Amino acid sequence: MSKFRLLHIGLDDTDSKDGMCTTYVGAVVVDRLREMGVKIFDYPRLIRLNPNWVLKTRGNCAISIEVETRAELIPKIKQIVFETVEQLAELDHETTNPGVAFLEGGDIPEELKTYSKKVIQDIVTIDEAENLAKRIGAEVFKFKIGRGIVGALAAIGEELKQDKTYELVAYRVPNNRGTKRKIDRESVFKMNELTYPSTFDNIDLATGEIRITPHTPCPILYGIRAENPQTAVKAHNIVKALEPIERWVIYKTNQATDEHIRDARISKVQAERSFMVRGEVCKKPRIIRGGHVIFRIRDESGGIDCAAYEPTRKFRETVMKLTVGDVIKAYGGVKQKPSLPLTINLEKIEVIKLSPVLEKVNPVCSLCGKRMKSAGKRKGFMCKHCKLKLPKEAVRFEEMPRLITLGVYEVPPRARRHLAKPLIRLSPQVW
Ligand SMILES: [Zn+2]
Repeated sequence: MSKFRLLHIGLDDTDSKDGMCTTYVGAVVVDRLREMGVKIFDYPRLIRLNPNWVLKTRGNCAISIEVETRAELIPKIKQIVFETVEQLAELDHETTNPGVAFLEGGDIPEELKTYSKKVIQDIVTIDEAENLAKRIGAEVFKFKIGRGIVGALAAIGEELKQDKTYELVAYRVPNNRGTKRKIDRESVFKMNELTYPSTFDNIDLATGEIRITPHTPCPILYGIRAENPQTAVKAHNIVKALEPIERWVIYKTNQATDEHIRDARISKVQAERSFMVRGEVCKKPRIIRGGHVIFRIRDESGGIDCAAYEPTRKFRETVMKLTVGDVIKAYGGVKQKPSLPLTINLEKIEVIKLSPVLEKVNPVCSLCGKRMKSAGKRKGFMCKHCKLKLPKEAVRFEEMPRLITLGVYEVPPRARRHLAKPLIRLSPQVW
């Protein structure tokens, strides 16, 4: 009889806007467990949760780690997890409410898998999480109000058997945190050249902005997103950090997979969640104050506003080319602002059908072949040369060229959600 056991560890809500990051807490736990000789199974997982939930943490990510260990080491492993969370979590912050979950055994119960999908796409209460833990025999531990147990359990239950990506995250030494990140810009461009599209979102080509370094005071120096762990390591070896790296880790993740998005009819769309709806443009795009572009679509069940906000830059210009009658799929998170209609904050659109745009043109003279002029208001048309006259009913309608083609359009990397699947990942032959 084997004395080895599988143990799933889940962590969530250890960070705040002022620093720390749950991925760092996870990386430290992984290193401490390795130091005591515990075998980490596969890669630790970084699971992004519903990005539109109002109570979310900054990046709304949870971590899970699966270990294979001798049974007698389990209490020691749990102790290391608790100590690390206590030491690193931003417990002084009112909104930081860490949670830890443990589940023994290899197979993930179906009920937990369903629950994880719900935490990624919908909203789950702390009570729901606790009740589920009891039913499936998972242990959960709450720090303060312990909202983190919601994500800690969800991270254990999302095994990433379907679509997944990887992120290699490198961390700064404590003394440097909060200061400007020092990284060789050229090396990032070189890395992108040599590894894209097996790595992605390295650079925003429109602005030249490096995307692998965050702009927050968190411990992350950079994160490289990749289709597989080998390319992530290759890219990491090309990037030159101009400051020491304390440690790095590779996470398997649901980032860039669109896992947050559910297909729905427009009448079923709810605030604080993300959807893909198919509809016909029923109100032309217009620019509103702040440079945002708003238009409206409808299906047989109802209508909804769609918005391309100012930070999406060039994507707004694409959206402006839509017109009434066009059929699109709209992808995005839904927000409810007081006294405003429900609005989809667009992450991408697919243009499925373009409606013909007709414009009135004057008829051509049948004698000389030149374009006729208006003979005056409601007086029809006249040829200047031949003096030929035609009634106003002779007006012609011509189909205008459309400035947009069928296809998928997305917001630039700088405006992209962690979970949103970039276009480059939609084509199956990319790697
Ligand atoms: Zn003429």
